Amino acid sequence: MTVQDPDGKIYQVEAGFLLDASGFGRVLPRLLQLDTPSNFPVRGAIFTHIADGIVAGFDRSKIRITVHPQQCDVWFWTIPFAGGRCSLGVVAESSFLERYSGTDTERLQAIVAEEPSLQTLLANATWDTPARHITGYSANVASLWGRGYALLGNAGEFLDPVFSSGVTIAVKSASLAAGVLQRQFAGEEVDWQRDYGAPLRKGVDTFRAFVESWYAGGFQSIIFHPDPQPDIRRMIASILAGYAWDQTNPYVKDTARRLAALETLCTVA
Ligand SMILES: Cc1cc2nc3c(=O)[nH]c(=O)nc-3n(C[C@H](O)[C@H](O)[C@H](O)COP(=O)(O)OP(=O)(O)OC[C@H]3O[C@@H](n4cnc5c(N)ncnc54)[C@H](O)[C@@H]3O)c2cc1C
Repeated sequence: MTVQDPDGKIYQVEAGFLLDASGFGRVLPRLLQLDTPSNFPVRGAIFTHIADGIVAGFDRSKIRITVHPQQCDVWFWTIPFAGGRCSLGVVAESSFLERYSGTDTERLQAIVAEEPSLQTLLANATWDTPARHITGYSANVASLWGRGYALLGNAGEFLDPVFSSGVTIAVKSASLAAGVLQRQFAGEEVDWQRDYGAPLRKGVDTFRAFVESWYAGGFQSIIFHPDPQPDIRRMIASILAGYAWDQTNPYVKDTARRLAALETLCTVA
């Protein structure tokens, strides 16, 4: 392998195994042409940091997710930082974002202005950092491992930012791969598909069912239901908090069927 360090120095490394943790750099998927199309529509995000100027109506210990009043598949994040600052962003299909012209800051401001509660909350904000955008962030690969390598985190698959699953999946992938490698180097027989690819995908697929249901609107009818059942709420919160591999949770074991049933209940109620 050829490596270039931050000072530009180039050197060669020979290794028994390569873990690619290059995130959106996606070094091995590009070199080995492992990319496969994601089955999600192309979505993008416009985001920035602001001095939020919020005086009331915002719990600074929580991330606020706001849904666009007309389009349930368009949502905003407001993530509080110290010192009265926030990360603010909007996520939508590219075709929606393309309707807005101007700089990324102007486009983000125009979309925020369409959501009255967010507009009011940020009425005194100072937009001191130019916004940026990312398009087509979802990524998928034919296989999460191959002879002599494995893909970790975003270098393998990235679903969607909505449930902040990215870091959870990245850390889980690293922890699974480290365990398999340790056993391999100790001379034990390992099967990367059985011990790494399949178990990692299980949790990813659990998150995927929630992401799909969120954008279709069904999961929103569950989240915003006025009278949630505490035990079901706990099971779902546990998954979104990262326990997406916990097979004792019925919503992990049978995600699609249970979510669909709950959506139906919450929609008619
Ligand atoms: C709009 C948006 C919002 C998000 N919000 C959240 C959130 O709130 N919570 C959450 O959990 N996740 C969030 N995510 C996802 C999260 O950022 C990623 O899933 C997570 O960072 C993946 O970790 P990683 O280690 O795989 O990759 P990264 O964190 O991207 O790390 C990869 C590293 O590899 C380096 N690198 C790349 N190429 C090379 C190369 N050729 N040589 C050397 N180094 C290289 C990069 O510089 C980087 O340091 C969000 C993603 C998006 C798109």
